[in-house]
Amino acid sequence: MQERIREKLSILADAAKYDVSCSSSGSDRTNSNKGLGNASASGICHTYTEDGRCVSLLKILLTNHCIFDCAYCVSRKSNDVKRAAFTVQEVVDLTIGFYRRNYIEGLFLSSGIFKDADTTMERLVLVAKKLRTEHRFNGYIHLKTIPGASDELMNEAGLYADRLSVNLELPTESGLKLLAPDKSFKDMEKPMGFISNTITALNDTRKQLISTPRFVPAGQSTQVIVGATRESDLEIIRTADRFYRDFSLKRVYYSGYVPVLEDNRLPSLSTQVPILRENRLYQADWLMRFYGFGANEIVDETNPNLDLEIDPKLAWALRNLHFFPLDVNTADLQLILRVPGIGVRSAQKIVAARRYAKLGWENLRKLGIAMNRARYFLVCKDPVLEKKDRSAESLRHLILSVGNSKFKELHGIQTSLFE
Ligand code: SF4
Repeated sequence: MQERIREKLSILADAAKYDVSCSSSGSDRTNSNKGLGNASASGICHTYTEDGRCVSLLKILLTNHCIFDCAYCVSRKSNDVKRAAFTVQEVVDLTIGFYRRNYIEGLFLSSGIFKDADTTMERLVLVAKKLRTEHRFNGYIHLKTIPGASDELMNEAGLYADRLSVNLELPTESGLKLLAPDKSFKDMEKPMGFISNTITALNDTRKQLISTPRFVPAGQSTQVIVGATRESDLEIIRTADRFYRDFSLKRVYYSGYVPVLEDNRLPSLSTQVPILRENRLYQADWLMRFYGFGANEIVDETNPNLDLEIDPKLAWALRNLHFFPLDVNTADLQLILRVPGIGVRSAQKIVAARRYAKLGWENLRKLGIAMNRARYFLVCKDPVLEKKDRSAESLRHLILSVGNSKFKELHGIQTSLFE
């Protein structure tokens, strides 16, 4: 029995690894007594809670049987892979066993659709319900919801899980039609709308009635695969922006397409995973969520793709040199946030510090500003460090020539996925 469970664990943890909506990294905790739960082989991943704590999760599928045939997915029905399925009780026992051994602090559970949406979702919910009610499990639970599942099941899932996610997978309806013909945006929007509305309604009720149950306290998220289809960054960012606004998503995760399947609708197997593009999309996402940038300021019809050589904030600044230089001692916080090399915390520190004294270059350095970029866009009480009348092209050249990006060597392989 233990051997069988170990085999299932190896198949179903491996199949779950392509989902990045719980940011994953392998664990090197090993098993010394040949018992259950060798963390290095059993899909333990790390994720971050609302308060910034890093927690380890058991990341598995309930089953990799699936009635759908999404081209990009290793579990698709036409793929010839070893199949396995856990029972509800097996997942509960594994979670509790790993938790007691201190291997994990929670569970990330997804599944192929093995019969229909409701039957699959019902089992996912049952795992969470048993953990919470029979074992009084207070660890983190992230359930991946099944598109098309009923509102009743979504409601129940939200009462037991900390986070729910519905994966968009592809950023446009046409991309879905091409690679995941069994799915449509409507199937994703319906559960997302239900979760978002229920969170809002229960939050309102809680203001009057303190005993109102908690519903998806860590909110909902989604994942978009980048590079499996030809969508531009403009289409990806606009979709993310719309979903953030319409469904109050906590996070959109961008997952660079990993070519593991031969299919003439997909990039070839020799294609590089677009890690740099994925990273630029995350930077753009942060600009929208924390820096007050609109999607159209980051990419537009004239510049539909993110610049892979420079980060999106620097790219915006170079397109909008008329905003600069900013006087760091008088500019609004919202404008300081737009200066390349200044993060949210540093911007807040600048605004707090300048109440007491006018700031100079040394003060800015001490506040943690990345001066190799910021110096070209600021003035302060000290004499200017740089000529401020350079063209965007010469500034870009200058910054790149002194910059030392860890992604430099990746540039060049990222732009030609379909060439
Ligand atoms: S529905 Fe999910 S598990 Fe099934 S083939 Fe599509 S992506 Fe894979």
